[in-house]
Amino acid sequence: MKSFNVPVQYRSPLVTAIKQKRKAADKMKRDFTPAVLELGSLQVILARHFGFCYGVENAIEIAFRAVEENKGKRIFLLSEMIHNPGVNADLQAMGIKFIMDTKGNMLMPWDELNSDDVVIIPAFGTTLELEQQLRDKGIDPTHYETTCPFVEKVWNRAEKIGDDGYTIIVHGKPGHEETRATFSHSKARTHTIVVKDMEQAQHLAKYITGDLPADQFYTDFKGSYSEGFDVAKDLQRIGVVNQTTMLASETQGIADYLKQVILAKYQTPADKINERFADTRDTLCYATNDNQSAVQGMLEQQADIAIVIGGYNSSNTSHLVELCELKLPTFFINDEHCLVSDKAVRHFDLHTHKEVVSENYLPANRPLRVMITSGASCPDALVERVIERLAELTGNENRIAAITEEWIAG
Ligand code: SF4
Repeated sequence: MKSFNVPVQYRSPLVTAIKQKRKAADKMKRDFTPAVLELGSLQVILARHFGFCYGVENAIEIAFRAVEENKGKRIFLLSEMIHNPGVNADLQAMGIKFIMDTKGNMLMPWDELNSDDVVIIPAFGTTLELEQQLRDKGIDPTHYETTCPFVEKVWNRAEKIGDDGYTIIVHGKPGHEETRATFSHSKARTHTIVVKDMEQAQHLAKYITGDLPADQFYTDFKGSYSEGFDVAKDLQRIGVVNQTTMLASETQGIADYLKQVILAKYQTPADKINERFADTRDTLCYATNDNQSAVQGMLEQQADIAIVIGGYNSSNTSHLVELCELKLPTFFINDEHCLVSDKAVRHFDLHTHKEVVSENYLPANRPLRVMITSGASCPDALVERVIERLAELTGNENRIAAITEEWIAG
Protein backbone atom coordinates (compact mmCIF):
# COMPACT_ATOMS: atom_id res chain seq x y z
CA MET A 1 0.00 0.00 0.00
CA LYS A 2 1.20 3.53 -0.79
CA SER A 3 3.01 5.28 2.06
CA PHE A 4 2.54 8.94 2.93
CA ASN A 5 4.56 11.81 4.27
CA VAL A 6 3.02 12.07 7.75
CA PRO A 7 4.19 15.19 9.64
CA VAL A 8 6.67 14.40 12.37
CA GLN A 9 4.43 15.70 15.16
CA TYR A 10 2.05 12.79 14.57
CA ARG A 11 4.71 10.07 14.72
CA SER A 12 5.90 8.09 17.72
CA PRO A 13 9.27 6.33 17.91
CA LEU A 14 7.86 3.69 20.27
CA VAL A 15 4.68 2.94 18.32
CA THR A 16 6.49 3.01 14.97
CA ALA A 17 9.03 0.48 16.27
CA ILE A 18 6.26 -1.80 17.55
CA LYS A 19 4.23 -1.57 14.33
CA GLN A 20 7.26 -2.18 12.11
CA LYS A 21 8.37 -5.18 14.10
CA ARG A 22 4.87 -6.68 14.15
CA LYS A 23 4.42 -6.04 10.44
CA ALA A 24 7.74 -7.68 9.55
CA ALA A 25 6.78 -10.77 11.54
CA ASP A 26 3.23 -10.96 10.16
CA LYS A 27 3.10 -9.71 6.59
CA MET A 28 -0.23 -11.40 5.84
CA LYS A 29 -1.88 -9.78 8.89
CA ARG A 30 -3.08 -13.07 10.36
CA ASP A 31 -1.90 -12.41 13.90
CA PHE A 32 -4.33 -10.31 15.93
CA THR A 33 -2.67 -10.80 19.30
CA PRO A 34 -1.67 -7.57 21.03
CA ALA A 35 1.85 -6.39 21.90
CA VAL A 36 2.57 -6.41 25.63
CA LEU A 37 4.73 -3.64 27.12
CA GLU A 38 6.12 -4.43 30.57
CA LEU A 39 6.56 -1.12 32.36
CA GLY A 40 7.26 -2.25 35.92
CA SER A 41 4.01 -2.21 37.85
CA LEU A 42 2.16 -1.25 34.68
CA GLN A 43 1.48 -3.65 31.82
CA VAL A 44 0.24 -2.06 28.59
CA ILE A 45 -1.57 -4.42 26.21
CA LEU A 46 -1.49 -2.70 22.84
CA ALA A 47 -3.81 -3.76 20.00
CA ARG A 48 -2.20 -5.23 16.88
CA HIS A 49 -3.78 -2.58 14.59
CA PHE A 50 -4.79 0.97 15.44
CA GLY A 51 -4.14 4.56 14.42
CA PHE A 52 -3.84 6.43 11.15
CA CYS A 53 -5.30 4.57 8.16
CA TYR A 54 -4.59 5.02 4.46
CA GLY A 55 -7.39 7.55 4.00
CA VAL A 56 -6.36 9.71 6.94
CA GLU A 57 -2.67 9.79 5.98
CA ASN A 58 -3.66 10.63 2.41
CA ALA A 59 -5.92 13.46 3.62
CA ILE A 60 -3.28 14.92 5.92
CA GLU A 61 -0.65 14.86 3.19
CA ILE A 62 -2.97 16.63 0.73
CA ALA A 63 -4.06 19.25 3.29
CA PHE A 64 -0.49 20.10 4.26
CA ARG A 65 0.41 20.30 0.55
CA ALA A 66 -2.55 22.62 -0.08
CA VAL A 67 -1.19 25.01 2.56
CA GLU A 68 2.34 24.79 1.12
CA GLU A 69 1.20 25.45 -2.46
CA ASN A 70 -1.22 28.29 -1.76
CA LYS A 71 0.60 30.83 0.37
CA GLY A 72 -1.38 34.07 0.56
CA LYS A 73 -4.64 32.43 -0.50
CA ARG A 74 -7.64 31.67 1.66
CA ILE A 75 -7.88 27.93 2.29
CA PHE A 76 -11.04 26.24 3.54
CA LEU A 77 -12.05 22.77 4.55
CA LEU A 78 -15.62 21.89 3.64
CA SER A 79 -15.93 20.40 7.16
CA GLU A 80 -13.69 18.55 9.63
CA MET A 81 -11.15 16.71 7.49
CA ILE A 82 -11.10 13.74 9.84
CA HIS A 83 -12.67 13.22 13.24
CA ASN A 84 -9.66 14.08 15.35
CA PRO A 85 -9.77 17.34 17.31
CA GLY A 86 -5.96 17.63 17.56
CA VAL A 87 -5.36 17.27 13.82
CA ASN A 88 -8.22 19.64 13.01
CA ALA A 89 -6.83 22.20 15.49
CA ASP A 90 -3.41 21.92 13.80
CA LEU A 91 -5.00 22.62 10.42
CA GLN A 92 -6.84 25.63 11.82
CA ALA A 93 -3.59 26.88 13.36
CA MET A 94 -2.10 26.76 9.84
CA GLY A 95 -4.85 29.16 8.72
CA ILE A 96 -7.35 26.69 7.29
CA LYS A 97 -10.96 27.63 8.02
CA PHE A 98 -13.94 25.28 8.22
CA ILE A 99 -17.02 26.08 6.11
CA MET A 100 -19.40 23.71 7.93
CA ASP A 101 -19.54 21.68 11.09
CA THR A 102 -19.72 17.88 10.94
CA LYS A 103 -23.54 17.96 10.77
CA GLY A 104 -23.54 20.22 7.73
CA ASN A 105 -24.44 23.46 9.57
CA MET A 106 -22.77 26.52 8.02
CA LEU A 107 -20.01 28.13 10.07
CA MET A 108 -19.68 31.03 7.61
CA PRO A 109 -21.85 32.48 4.83
CA TRP A 110 -21.48 30.48 1.61
CA ASP A 111 -21.55 33.81 -0.30
CA GLU A 112 -18.16 34.71 1.14
CA LEU A 113 -16.46 32.06 -1.01
CA ASN A 114 -15.05 33.11 -4.35
CA SER A 115 -13.10 31.57 -7.21
CA ASP A 116 -9.71 32.56 -5.72
CA ASP A 117 -10.34 30.37 -2.70
CA VAL A 118 -8.99 26.87 -2.17
CA VAL A 119 -11.48 24.34 -0.77
CA ILE A 120 -10.33 20.96 0.53
CA ILE A 121 -12.84 18.10 0.42
CA PRO A 122 -12.57 15.96 3.59
CA ALA A 123 -11.68 12.24 3.72
CA PHE A 124 -15.38 11.36 4.11
CA GLY A 125 -16.11 12.81 0.67
CA THR A 126 -19.01 15.13 0.01
CA THR A 127 -22.35 15.28 -1.73
CA LEU A 128 -22.82 15.85 -5.45
CA GLU A 129 -24.92 18.88 -4.55
CA LEU A 130 -22.09 20.57 -2.62
CA GLU A 131 -19.60 19.71 -5.37
CA GLN A 132 -21.87 21.49 -7.84
CA GLN A 133 -22.25 24.50 -5.54
CA LEU A 134 -18.45 24.79 -5.43
CA ARG A 135 -18.23 24.57 -9.23
CA ASP A 136 -20.88 27.29 -9.46
CA LYS A 137 -18.49 29.45 -7.44
CA GLY A 138 -15.66 28.72 -9.87
CA ILE A 139 -13.89 26.44 -7.35
CA ASP A 140 -12.63 23.05 -8.55
CA PRO A 141 -13.66 20.53 -5.84
CA THR A 142 -11.29 17.87 -7.20
CA HIS A 143 -8.08 19.89 -6.92
CA TYR A 144 -7.51 19.23 -3.22
CA GLU A 145 -9.94 16.38 -2.74
CA THR A 146 -9.00 14.05 0.10
CA THR A 147 -11.94 11.64 -0.31
CA CYS A 148 -10.72 8.24 0.79
CA PRO A 149 -10.58 5.69 -2.06
CA PHE A 150 -12.35 3.19 0.23
CA VAL A 151 -15.31 5.58 0.46
CA GLU A 152 -15.30 5.99 -3.32
CA LYS A 153 -15.39 2.21 -3.56
CA VAL A 154 -18.71 2.22 -1.67
CA TRP A 155 -20.10 4.80 -4.10
CA ASN A 156 -19.00 2.65 -7.04
CA ARG A 157 -20.62 -0.40 -5.48
CA ALA A 158 -23.88 1.51 -4.88
CA GLU A 159 -23.84 2.84 -8.45
CA LYS A 160 -23.25 -0.63 -9.89
CA ILE A 161 -26.06 -2.19 -7.83
CA GLY A 162 -28.30 0.76 -8.66
CA ASP A 163 -27.62 0.43 -12.38
CA ASP A 164 -28.67 -3.22 -12.08
CA GLY A 165 -32.09 -2.05 -10.89
CA TYR A 166 -31.89 -2.53 -7.13
CA THR A 167 -32.84 -0.01 -4.45
CA ILE A 168 -29.89 0.74 -2.16
CA ILE A 169 -30.15 0.40 1.61
CA VAL A 170 -27.27 2.33 3.20
CA HIS A 171 -26.37 1.10 6.69
CA GLY A 172 -24.83 4.21 8.23
CA LYS A 173 -25.23 7.07 10.67
CA PRO A 174 -27.63 9.46 8.88
CA GLY A 175 -25.89 12.64 10.12
CA HIS A 176 -22.35 11.44 9.39
CA GLU A 177 -20.58 13.21 6.50
CA GLU A 178 -19.67 9.94 4.80
CA THR A 179 -23.22 8.57 4.88
CA ARG A 180 -24.61 11.88 3.62
CA ALA A 181 -22.11 11.71 0.73
CA THR A 182 -22.88 8.06 -0.02
CA PHE A 183 -26.62 8.78 0.07
CA SER A 184 -26.13 11.62 -2.41
CA HIS A 185 -24.06 9.54 -4.85
CA SER A 186 -26.37 6.54 -4.57
CA LYS A 187 -29.65 8.44 -5.02
CA ALA A 188 -28.29 9.99 -8.20
CA ARG A 189 -28.49 6.47 -9.71
CA THR A 190 -31.29 4.67 -7.89
CA HIS A 191 -33.74 4.92 -5.03
CA THR A 192 -31.91 4.90 -1.72
CA ILE A 193 -32.75 4.76 1.97
CA VAL A 194 -30.51 5.03 5.05
CA VAL A 195 -30.96 2.78 8.10
CA LYS A 196 -28.86 3.43 11.17
CA ASP A 197 -29.09 0.11 13.01
CA MET A 198 -30.75 -3.29 13.25
CA GLU A 199 -33.80 -1.81 14.98
CA GLN A 200 -34.43 0.47 12.00
CA ALA A 201 -33.75 -2.39 9.58
CA GLN A 202 -36.40 -4.44 11.38
CA HIS A 203 -38.80 -1.54 11.12
CA LEU A 204 -38.08 -1.18 7.41
CA ALA A 205 -38.73 -4.91 7.00
CA LYS A 206 -42.33 -4.32 8.04
CA TYR A 207 -42.78 -2.22 4.91
CA ILE A 208 -41.19 -4.96 2.78
CA THR A 209 -43.62 -7.52 4.19
CA GLY A 210 -46.57 -5.13 4.09
CA ASP A 211 -47.14 -5.43 7.86
CA LEU A 212 -47.24 -1.64 8.16
CA PRO A 213 -49.33 0.70 6.00
CA ALA A 214 -47.30 2.32 3.20
CA ASP A 215 -48.38 5.86 4.16
CA GLN A 216 -46.69 5.59 7.52
CA PHE A 217 -43.30 4.93 5.88
CA TYR A 218 -42.91 8.56 4.84
CA THR A 219 -43.24 9.73 8.43
CA ASP A 220 -41.16 6.97 9.99
CA PHE A 221 -38.24 7.41 7.57
CA LYS A 222 -38.57 11.16 6.98
CA GLY A 223 -35.29 12.63 5.71
CA SER A 224 -33.75 9.20 5.09
CA TYR A 225 -35.14 8.25 1.65
CA SER A 226 -34.60 9.60 -1.85
CA GLU A 227 -37.10 11.89 -3.52
CA GLY A 228 -39.96 10.06 -5.22
CA PHE A 229 -39.40 6.88 -3.18
CA ASP A 230 -42.42 4.62 -3.70
CA VAL A 231 -42.52 2.23 -0.77
CA ALA A 232 -44.91 -0.15 -2.58
CA LYS A 233 -42.56 -0.51 -5.55
CA ASP A 234 -39.05 0.40 -4.43
CA LEU A 235 -38.56 -2.29 -1.76
CA GLN A 236 -38.97 -5.27 -4.08
CA ARG A 237 -35.31 -5.58 -5.14
CA ILE A 238 -32.66 -4.34 -2.75
CA GLY A 239 -28.92 -4.25 -2.12
CA VAL A 240 -27.09 -3.17 1.04
CA VAL A 241 -23.97 -1.02 1.28
CA ASN A 242 -22.59 0.50 4.43
CA GLN A 243 -20.63 3.38 5.85
CA THR A 244 -17.03 2.15 5.89
CA THR A 245 -16.67 2.44 9.66
CA MET A 246 -19.67 0.55 11.04
CA LEU A 247 -19.54 -2.39 13.41
CA ALA A 248 -18.78 -5.44 11.23
CA SER A 249 -21.14 -7.79 13.07
CA GLU A 250 -24.06 -5.35 12.87
CA THR A 251 -23.53 -4.64 9.18
CA GLN A 252 -23.44 -8.35 8.39
CA GLY A 253 -26.48 -8.97 10.59
CA ILE A 254 -28.53 -6.28 8.81
CA ALA A 255 -27.63 -7.54 5.31
CA ASP A 256 -28.42 -11.16 6.26
CA TYR A 257 -31.68 -10.16 7.95
CA LEU A 258 -32.99 -8.05 5.06
CA LYS A 259 -32.01 -10.77 2.61
CA GLN A 260 -34.08 -13.35 4.51
CA VAL A 261 -37.04 -10.97 4.78
CA ILE A 262 -37.18 -10.21 1.07
CA LEU A 263 -36.61 -13.83 0.02
CA ALA A 264 -39.40 -15.00 2.33
CA LYS A 265 -41.78 -12.28 1.14
CA TYR A 266 -41.34 -13.22 -2.52
CA GLN A 267 -40.74 -16.95 -1.85
CA THR A 268 -37.57 -16.77 -3.88
CA PRO A 269 -35.68 -20.06 -4.32
CA ALA A 270 -32.03 -20.09 -3.22
CA ASP A 271 -30.75 -20.27 -6.79
CA LYS A 272 -32.68 -17.11 -7.72
CA ILE A 273 -31.48 -14.87 -4.86
CA ASN A 274 -30.09 -12.34 -7.29
CA GLU A 275 -33.58 -11.59 -8.58
CA ARG A 276 -34.38 -9.89 -5.28
CA PHE A 277 -31.16 -9.21 -3.39
CA ALA A 278 -27.84 -7.92 -4.67
CA ASP A 279 -25.67 -10.37 -2.76
CA THR A 280 -22.42 -8.51 -2.17
CA ARG A 281 -19.92 -8.42 0.65
CA ASP A 282 -19.97 -5.56 3.13
CA THR A 283 -18.30 -2.28 2.22
CA LEU A 284 -16.39 -1.81 5.47
CA CYS A 285 -12.85 -0.61 4.80
CA TYR A 286 -9.71 -2.58 5.62
CA ALA A 287 -8.87 -0.30 8.59
CA THR A 288 -12.26 -0.87 10.20
CA ASN A 289 -11.90 -4.61 9.79
CA ASP A 290 -8.29 -4.71 11.00
CA ASN A 291 -8.91 -2.48 14.01
CA GLN A 292 -12.04 -4.36 15.10
CA SER A 293 -10.33 -7.76 14.63
CA ALA A 294 -7.34 -6.47 16.61
CA VAL A 295 -9.63 -5.44 19.46
CA GLN A 296 -11.22 -8.90 19.43
CA GLY A 297 -7.71 -10.39 19.60
CA MET A 298 -6.73 -8.03 22.41
CA LEU A 299 -9.86 -8.86 24.40
CA GLU A 300 -8.82 -12.51 24.57
CA GLN A 301 -6.16 -11.39 27.09
CA GLN A 302 -6.89 -10.51 30.70
CA ALA A 303 -6.78 -6.85 31.75
CA ASP A 304 -8.16 -4.45 34.35
CA ILE A 305 -9.36 -1.61 32.14
CA ALA A 306 -9.32 -0.54 28.49
CA ILE A 307 -8.51 2.91 27.14
CA VAL A 308 -9.66 3.85 23.64
CA ILE A 309 -8.25 7.07 22.18
CA GLY A 310 -9.95 9.12 19.47
CA GLY A 311 -12.31 11.94 18.57
CA TYR A 312 -15.64 11.66 20.34
CA ASN A 313 -17.45 12.05 17.00
CA SER A 314 -15.36 9.33 15.34
CA SER A 315 -17.56 6.48 14.15
CA ASN A 316 -14.82 3.86 13.84
CA THR A 317 -13.45 4.70 17.31
CA SER A 318 -16.87 4.45 18.93
CA HIS A 319 -17.25 0.89 17.64
CA LEU A 320 -13.91 -0.08 19.21
CA VAL A 321 -15.28 1.30 22.48
CA GLU A 322 -18.48 -0.74 22.10
CA LEU A 323 -16.45 -3.92 21.65
CA CYS A 324 -14.24 -3.24 24.68
CA GLU A 325 -17.22 -2.32 26.87
CA LEU A 326 -18.58 -5.83 26.42
CA LYS A 327 -15.61 -7.21 28.30
CA LEU A 328 -14.20 -4.70 30.81
CA PRO A 329 -14.40 -1.11 32.16
CA THR A 330 -13.57 1.10 29.18
CA PHE A 331 -12.63 4.77 28.99
CA PHE A 332 -13.00 6.64 25.68
CA ILE A 333 -10.60 9.58 25.86
CA ASN A 334 -9.49 12.38 23.54
CA ASP A 335 -5.90 12.63 24.69
CA GLU A 336 -3.51 12.23 27.61
CA HIS A 337 -4.95 15.27 29.41
CA CYS A 338 -8.12 13.25 30.02
CA LEU A 339 -6.09 11.15 32.48
CA VAL A 340 -6.48 13.93 35.02
CA SER A 341 -4.80 12.03 37.87
CA ASP A 342 -4.49 8.48 39.17
CA LYS A 343 -7.91 9.04 40.74
CA ALA A 344 -9.90 10.79 38.00
CA VAL A 345 -10.42 10.31 34.27
CA ARG A 346 -12.40 12.54 31.91
CA HIS A 347 -14.01 10.41 29.21
CA PHE A 348 -16.87 10.22 26.76
CA ASP A 349 -19.93 8.19 27.64
CA LEU A 350 -21.28 6.72 24.39
CA HIS A 351 -24.67 6.06 25.95
CA THR A 352 -25.38 9.59 27.17
CA HIS A 353 -23.24 11.30 24.52
CA LYS A 354 -21.62 13.36 27.24
CA GLU A 355 -18.11 13.79 28.56
CA VAL A 356 -18.05 12.69 32.19
CA VAL A 357 -15.49 12.35 34.99
CA SER A 358 -15.09 8.98 36.69
CA GLU A 359 -13.30 8.52 40.00
CA ASN A 360 -11.01 5.67 41.06
CA TYR A 361 -10.71 4.31 37.53
CA LEU A 362 -7.32 2.67 38.14
CA PRO A 363 -7.71 -0.52 40.20
CA ALA A 364 -5.23 -0.93 43.06
CA ASN A 365 -3.80 -4.31 41.99
CA ARG A 366 -0.27 -4.45 40.55
CA PRO A 367 0.81 -4.98 37.91
CA LEU A 368 -2.00 -2.88 36.56
CA ARG A 369 -3.03 -4.24 33.15
CA VAL A 370 -4.35 -1.65 30.67
CA MET A 371 -5.53 -2.40 27.15
CA ILE A 372 -4.99 0.43 24.69
CA THR A 373 -6.21 1.05 21.16
CA SER A 374 -7.14 4.06 19.07
CA GLY A 375 -9.28 5.04 16.10
CA ALA A 376 -8.17 5.43 12.50
CA SER A 377 -7.81 9.20 12.84
CA CYS A 378 -5.69 9.17 15.99
CA PRO A 379 -1.96 9.96 15.63
CA ASP A 380 0.48 7.41 17.06
CA ALA A 381 2.16 10.27 18.95
CA LEU A 382 -1.04 10.65 20.96
CA VAL A 383 -1.07 6.95 21.84
CA GLU A 384 2.52 7.25 23.04
CA ARG A 385 1.63 10.27 25.18
CA VAL A 386 -1.22 8.30 26.79
CA ILE A 387 1.18 5.43 27.57
CA GLU A 388 3.65 7.92 29.04
CA ARG A 389 0.93 9.52 31.15
CA LEU A 390 -0.17 6.13 32.50
CA ALA A 391 3.46 5.31 33.28
CA GLU A 392 3.77 8.62 35.10
CA LEU A 393 0.58 8.05 37.12
CA THR A 394 1.76 4.61 38.20
CA GLY A 395 5.35 5.68 38.94
CA ASN A 396 6.88 3.89 35.95
CA GLU A 397 7.95 6.84 33.79
CA ASN A 398 11.58 5.75 33.96
CA ARG A 399 10.74 2.59 31.98
CA ILE A 400 9.56 4.39 28.80
CA ALA A 401 13.00 5.15 27.33
CA ALA A 402 14.22 1.60 27.97
CA ILE A 403 11.16 -0.04 26.43
CA THR A 404 11.41 2.21 23.37
CA GLU A 405 15.06 1.21 22.91
CA GLU A 406 14.18 -2.45 23.32
CA TRP A 407 11.55 -2.29 20.55
CA ILE A 408 13.77 -0.20 18.26
CA ALA A 409 16.66 -2.63 18.78
CA GLY A 410 14.17 -5.38 17.91
S1 SF4 B 1 -11.42 4.65 8.13
FE1 SF4 B 1 -11.37 3.53 6.16
S2 SF4 B 1 -12.73 4.67 4.80
FE2 SF4 B 1 -12.28 6.01 6.54
S3 SF4 B 1 -10.54 7.23 5.86
FE3 SF4 B 1 -9.70 5.42 6.90
S4 SF4 B 1 -9.33 3.88 5.28
FE4 SF4 B 1 -10.70 5.45 4.46
